[in-house]
Amino acid sequence: MKTRSVAHIIPAFELDMGGTIVKQSLPTQQVEQIDPFLLLHHFGPYDIEAGHDPLDVGPHPHRGFEPVTFLYSGGLLHKDSRNNVGELEGGDVQWMTSGMGIIHSERGSKKMLDEGGTLEGIQLWVNLPAKDKMVIPRYQDIKAADIPTVNLEHGGKLRVVAGEFNGKSGPAETFTELNAWQLELVGGTGAELPIPVSHNALVYLLDGHVKLNDNFDYTGPSLLHFRNDGEAEGITLEGMAENTRALILTGEPIGEKVTQYGPFVMNTQTEIMQAMRDYQMGKMGVYIE
Ligand code: MN
Repeated sequence: MKTRSVAHIIPAFELDMGGTIVKQSLPTQQVEQIDPFLLLHHFGPYDIEAGHDPLDVGPHPHRGFEPVTFLYSGGLLHKDSRNNVGELEGGDVQWMTSGMGIIHSERGSKKMLDEGGTLEGIQLWVNLPAKDKMVIPRYQDIKAADIPTVNLEHGGKLRVVAGEFNGKSGPAETFTELNAWQLELVGGTGAELPIPVSHNALVYLLDGHVKLNDNFDYTGPSLLHFRNDGEAEGITLEGMAENTRALILTGEPIGEKVTQYGPFVMNTQTEIMQAMRDYQMGKMGVYIE
C-alpha cells in the first residue's frame, strides 16, 4: 500500500477551561482546521471522587456545526432545548447537529456523581456545509452495542462510528462523507487503514506509541495530520506500546470559508452577528435548569 506522509505532528497541549484541564490538538496556530474537522478536545482520564463533577458545563448554545462526544469511560448526562436527554456510558457516542441552534448542558451522570470513577472522552467539532448550517437540530444518541467492531489481524480492534471500514458501516448519520474510527492496538499488532484519496485525514493518539508506515515513531497524546499525497491509498500503524488507542478521522473537505466566534461556526461575520442576535432573542430555544 502506498502510504500518506505526515504534514504536521501536533502534541496535545493542556488548556484550562474554567478549572477543567483538557488536551487540545485542534485548532492550533499552525493548523486552524483539518476540513471538515474544526476542534478536538481530549478530556481526562480524570479520577473522580463521588459528588465531584469535573465537567459541569451549564447551558450554552451552538449553531452551524456538529459537536460530537466519544465517551471512553465514566458517565455523562446531556440535556438540551429540544427536550433531548442523553445518558452516556463508556463506549457510547453522542453525535449532535446544532444546525440553526440548540442550547445544551453537559455534566457527569447521576451514577458518576454518586459513585465516582474515571471519566475520559473526546469532544470533536465537525463543520457543516453552508447549505446545511441552518437545518433543524438533530440528536443522535449512539450506544456502544450499536457500533460495529472489526477485529483486525493479530488482536487489534476498530470500531466504526461513522462511514465504513471493511464492509461495515457506522451508525452515525453525517451531512458530508466522512469516517470516524476508534482503534485499539496491542503491542506488536498493526492496522492497515485505507483512506479515500479525496479525504483529509488525521490520527489522534490518546496514548501509547505507534510506528507509522514502517518508518517513524509517534507517542500520544498527539495528533498526526496527513498530507493528501497523490495516489496514496492510506496509512499503516503498528502498536509499539502495550496498548495504544487512536481516533482516526477522514473526510471530504467542505472547502468553504469558516468564521467562528465562541460556540458558533458560520461562513461570514454577518452570520455570526445574526447567530448572537438569534440566541439573545430566544430563537435557539430556551433551556433553563
Ligand atoms: Mn457544547
